[in-house]
Amino acid sequence: MLKYDNSARMWRAVLASDPGADGLFYYAVRTTGIFCRPSCKSKPPRPENVRFFSSAAAAMAAGFRPCKRCRPDRPEEYREPAVELSERAVRILTAEYADPQILAALPGRVGASPAHLQRLFKQQTGRTPRVFLQDWRIRQAAALLAGTKLNITEICLAVGFESLSTFYAAFRSITGAAPGSYRRDRFRSEEEPL
Ligand SMILES: [Zn+2]
Repeated sequence: MLKYDNSARMWRAVLASDPGADGLFYYAVRTTGIFCRPSCKSKPPRPENVRFFSSAAAAMAAGFRPCKRCRPDRPEEYREPAVELSERAVRILTAEYADPQILAALPGRVGASPAHLQRLFKQQTGRTPRVFLQDWRIRQAAALLAGTKLNITEICLAVGFESLSTFYAAFRSITGAAPGSYRRDRFRSEEEPL
């Protein structure tokens, strides 16, 4: 008997790659002969080809091979915490960058100490959370400068900076231009294509 005994719910969990469903069931794909954890990031299979199993052992007994990406045959502890934790942190930063306090809240949100988060995040992304967030905010600001009529103060606040001088310094260090001249250049190049 499946613990998660509702195939519509299980299917939704598969489509959402829901890590919360991991360990509750496994899904196998008839056409490939492979089975996965619900959170697997592989391309979702066609629903008519899917079979659900309550355990990895049951899926293997039915002749399915474990996926090489999500390793459903390994115990739960195997899942690489560094990858998971930094992925979660990246999702939070890219969704909530407009919140000026998001960096301070991040360790608590992912359940890690600041030092631990910093180390794992850097190991996985090559950057610290602070640098990653700053780059992301400046990319959003550049898009707003080029694509909207918001003024620079509005853009500064919209992307999560609390001070205009910090925003100017970060913008210049990442794009090589001040926000105003970045905007003028964008409009000029649109009007007079080379
Ligand atoms: Zn998989």
